[in-house]
Amino acid sequence: MAKKVKCTECDAEFEVPDDVVVGEVISCPDCGLELEVVEIEGDTVKVKILQVSGEDWGE
Ligand SMILES: [Zn+2]
Repeated sequence: MAKKVKCTECDAEFEVPDDVVVGEVISCPDCGLELEVVEIEGDTVKVKILQVSGEDWGE
């Protein structure tokens, strides 16, 4: 059984393995963004956009 994730960026819904844990980083299959698991509520997984530290790379 899989859990459902809704991408906070593009609103795509996709599934992740049932053994996903808080703090795990998953990639949205739609927009490719990296999402960090912040909460697991039953079959629903809440995520936030992974903040990459050191945003000034490229300068
Ligand atoms: Zn997405």
